[in-house]
Amino acid sequence: MAENKQQAEQLDVLASTQSVIKKALDKLGYPDEMYELMKEPIRMLTVRIPVRMDDGSTRIFTGFRAQHNDSVGPTKGGVRFHPNVTEKEVKALSIWMSLKAGIVDLPYGGGKGGIICDPREMSFRELERVSRGYVRAISQIVGPTKDIPAPDVFTNSQIMAWMLDEYSRIREFDSPGFITGKPLVLGGSHGRESATAKGVTICIREAAKKKGIDIEGARVVIQGFGNAGSFLAKFMHDAGAIVIGISDAYGGLCDPDGLDIDYLLDRRDSFGTVTKLFRETISNEELLELDCDILVPAAIENQITENNAHNIKASIVVEAANGPTTMEATKILTDRDILLVPDVLASAGGVTVSYFEWVQNNQGYYWTEEEVEGKLEHVMVGSFDNIYNLARTRKVDMRLAAYMIGVRKMAEASRFRGWV
Ligand code: GLU
Repeated sequence: MAENKQQAEQLDVLASTQSVIKKALDKLGYPDEMYELMKEPIRMLTVRIPVRMDDGSTRIFTGFRAQHNDSVGPTKGGVRFHPNVTEKEVKALSIWMSLKAGIVDLPYGGGKGGIICDPREMSFRELERVSRGYVRAISQIVGPTKDIPAPDVFTNSQIMAWMLDEYSRIREFDSPGFITGKPLVLGGSHGRESATAKGVTICIREAAKKKGIDIEGARVVIQGFGNAGSFLAKFMHDAGAIVIGISDAYGGLCDPDGLDIDYLLDRRDSFGTVTKLFRETISNEELLELDCDILVPAAIENQITENNAHNIKASIVVEAANGPTTMEATKILTDRDILLVPDVLASAGGVTVSYFEWVQNNQGYYWTEEEVEGKLEHVMVGSFDNIYNLARTRKVDMRLAAYMIGVRKMAEASRFRGWV
């Protein structure tokens, strides 16, 4: 029983992120009041969204929008459509968005949204109706200078387009800066779709330099074949790495000589499912323990825990997903001298290019793909170096270093505003 309780606490992403926020603020010398302010979002809205289904019945979906801290600027972060979305998870995700914004130095605080639904079982029109219903339900607390949504798990540029359209109708003026991750023709940015994977690729390259690993010929395993995982597989393959394992929600594929990435990319569906086409698959648990140089969890939370951290063979773990490694596992990996690039740094490329998109919308002047990529490169390399160097000078693990940098600006801004 006690063991179960401990395990539940460890897998409680909100409690574990709060514990690291506390440590980071203590290290930086902030009083307890600062932790009290930062441990929960300043605003949390729960909405019930009635949706007419294609068969004529009505279903009521539950959605959330969390705004963690708006001392630095408007809050920003994606909207997740998933059957396992919980209020606690959305809160934790909003805190992680604040940390990402702090790490890559954006003028934002963190926000996050989620709807409890399974888009794999919904039609195109049902998805449109739930997307529009969500925007109607949260419209009072969002906006280009308030809180700016974006894509996340199982949401994409089409969903952003419906949400933008609904918001613009409610406000009665075109408002492209309300949401990011839009299609190019609606004011999206070049490079946004692949931005998370680009940022992860830059982190992998920098981490590999530190570990003396050559990307060319390095063996890479990627858990998850969604937006981040699939683009990443392509970028790693193009850079000459050997992608020996990939997976989706249903299982994994592995080949020590390298998988046929082009084929897999061609055959995956829009939810990143591809393993159903194969008879011989391995489990996601087995995939994580494959013998490789670089492991990238790019799926969901709590994948590397104290139960499997000892069996990880990679020398670099780069978290493309939000929250894939528990705090216990972070300690085990760090003690084993595995270089862990934490989620709040590794996956910050997405929100960075979302910021570029918002800036372009605000000024009505659009950049080339090269400009976007050059700016992203600069931001990611600088952020990686800051965290790596702080981890060394303060003798803390990479996650704590990332949190220290992530909370600093928000804490200072909250102080200047006289909140604490
Ligand atoms: N959902 C992405 C994330 O977790 C992107 C958020 C954004 O672009 O605002 O970082």
